[in-house]
Amino acid sequence: MQSHLSPSTASEPRIQGWCPGALRPMPSGDGLVVRVRPTLGRLTPLQAQGLAGLAQQYASPVLELTSRANLQLRGVCPDSYPDLIHGLRSLGLLDERADVEARRNLLISPFWTEADGTPAVCEGLNHALADTDAPALPGKFGFAIDLGAQAVLRSASADIRLERSGDQVLVYADGATTGACVPLHQAAPTAMALARWFVASGGVVNGRGRMARLLQRQALPAPFTTTRVPVAPAHTATVGNSATGMVVGLEFGQLPADTLHQLAALAPLRITPWRGLVLEGLHTAPNLPELITQPSDARLRVAACTGAPGCTQALGPTRALARFLAPLLPAGRTAHVSGCAKGCAHHGATLTLVARAAGFDLIEHGTADAAPDATGLDAAGIAAYLEQQRLHAPHV
Ligand code: SF4
Repeated sequence: MQSHLSPSTASEPRIQGWCPGALRPMPSGDGLVVRVRPTLGRLTPLQAQGLAGLAQQYASPVLELTSRANLQLRGVCPDSYPDLIHGLRSLGLLDERADVEARRNLLISPFWTEADGTPAVCEGLNHALADTDAPALPGKFGFAIDLGAQAVLRSASADIRLERSGDQVLVYADGATTGACVPLHQAAPTAMALARWFVASGGVVNGRGRMARLLQRQALPAPFTTTRVPVAPAHTATVGNSATGMVVGLEFGQLPADTLHQLAALAPLRITPWRGLVLEGLHTAPNLPELITQPSDARLRVAACTGAPGCTQALGPTRALARFLAPLLPAGRTAHVSGCAKGCAHHGATLTLVARAAGFDLIEHGTADAAPDATGLDAAGIAAYLEQQRLHAPHV
């Protein structure tokens, strides 16, 4: 195994500080990235059909599901962009303005129901975030609306969290141990009050900022110190039947437009932050080869970003390595292969591999920007590392 003990000295990735939108696409190595944020994280059959057609006409014919439960099109050429935008607008998949789109960062449990109040809370937030006096939130700042009986979004990136607490809603800041418990109709205004406090307290520096970081230097306002945030078991993202419908996965969140066409004919689709879909109301999985339908499928245990050559910041390709490693991972382990130290595809894997100018850094139980445990590894070196782990694992 090739390995060095000193940290890599490869150049650090450029931090953009914002996520692409549809009205503000992000240039990448393969053209523009256009991200669509469907209302309630749901596509009607008509929207799904239309989106598949737009991808085939104006973008790469493979769409991507993101960890914020959005959909993005890649490889859009600037000349086609106006026609693509026209198509998205006619499908009802666009915000009115780019600033509203950027603020409307709502991550919604894919298991939401009308009865749990999610549509009403989202409508309240959408309205407030589109208002002319909406707080100037940074591009990555987001809200997690997680109103089911069990919280499922705790490990997903968000700054303000809304969870069920009996017949009320607990609104709390990411990283806090306390929050404010309010009736459902007060949930959106309370979340907006917390967002305003974030901005007024200096949470935004040079257009960037996250709630958990602000809490390291600022105490919460009194209303958000009244109710303890309960400890909740971590949600295990998997595939299979649910009360909402069939949950399916897609390798690296890659959704071919053909598959989207076929799914659109079957059911409305909800996007999960685990790079999968819920086929609303369906309780058997359709027989489509791209869908991951078995919880034991090794592909569910690996994540990888676009990597080279699609991303200009990548220092190497990622997905071939992730595919190679998937069947080699010992039980209970997950891996994230990142093209650079930004690690934008995933958080929380037990093993992270980061492309560097010379080989991969390997990080145990840490994020892509953490100090590596080994450096300069190739695929064979990483496989040997995993084999060593398997041999030394305690036998039950
Ligand atoms: S983590 Fe991957 S997709 Fe994100 S900037 Fe780095 S190489 Fe690009």
